Amino acid sequence: MRTIVKQVPSQETSDGAGVRLKRSLGGPVLGELDPFLLLDEFRSDRADDYIAGFPDHPHRGFETVTYMLAGNMRHRDSVGNEGNLIAGSVQWMTAGRGIIHSEMPQQEDGLMWGFQLWVNLPAADKMCPPRYQDIPPEAIPSVRTETGAEVRVIAGSFGDAIGPVAGIATEPLYLDVSLPAQTALEIPVPNNHQGFVYPFEGDGEIAGEHLAVGTLGVLGAGDAVRGEGGDSGLRFLVVTGKPIGEPVARYGPFVMNTRQEIVQAVTDFQNGVLA
Ligand code: FE
Repeated sequence: MRTIVKQVPSQETSDGAGVRLKRSLGGPVLGELDPFLLLDEFRSDRADDYIAGFPDHPHRGFETVTYMLAGNMRHRDSVGNEGNLIAGSVQWMTAGRGIIHSEMPQQEDGLMWGFQLWVNLPAADKMCPPRYQDIPPEAIPSVRTETGAEVRVIAGSFGDAIGPVAGIATEPLYLDVSLPAQTALEIPVPNNHQGFVYPFEGDGEIAGEHLAVGTLGVLGAGDAVRGEGGDSGLRFLVVTGKPIGEPVARYGPFVMNTRQEIVQAVTDFQNGVLA
């Protein structure tokens, strides 16, 4: 059974054109957890906190994953891709050699809630052509257990369900787990994976620890994670993947292996040839 080896409380910050969010992974306490580079949670029903959105910005060398729980954002990029991210949907974007995109709220009031995860790419894939997997809510299988737990399988598998996200180098597991009050669930996790859990609603225990909502728990080694719903039940993410084990050179929206490659990314962006 996996334990929690480190707790990373999320911290208030802002990104894009002033979107308020809570950052856990990728902040000052834990910069990375191979193969993951960042986890942000955005959750607000105040338009001022999100309305400015994420105007045009570049990425190179890794993958950005947006999971929407509430609200509506329009995604658009430099090569003509466009899509609507609605509640319950996922966009898994493999930036590869480069894209320039924007994510802008399509609402002027109401709750905007979701997550952005950054997943690293191995050196061999960093300069691959950009790729999108836009997954509508109905394409994400949901497993209901005998105890009433519900597990949405975004990537990887749980029980008989296989997540719709495919062909990712780090073979990630990405689950959204809801446990009713006073119930427990064991979630198998491949033992060659590294990753974390992140509770975002309710209370309870994960891997034997009481983790506050908004605190990321880094998982130790093992084959499974045990979750327990407290008095109000518990909802949390389980995110794991195969570590890449390569050097990470990182500057803003570019994640490469060497400083030289970062300089190249910045130069390509400045010269208008990144995407
Ligand atoms: Fe982005």
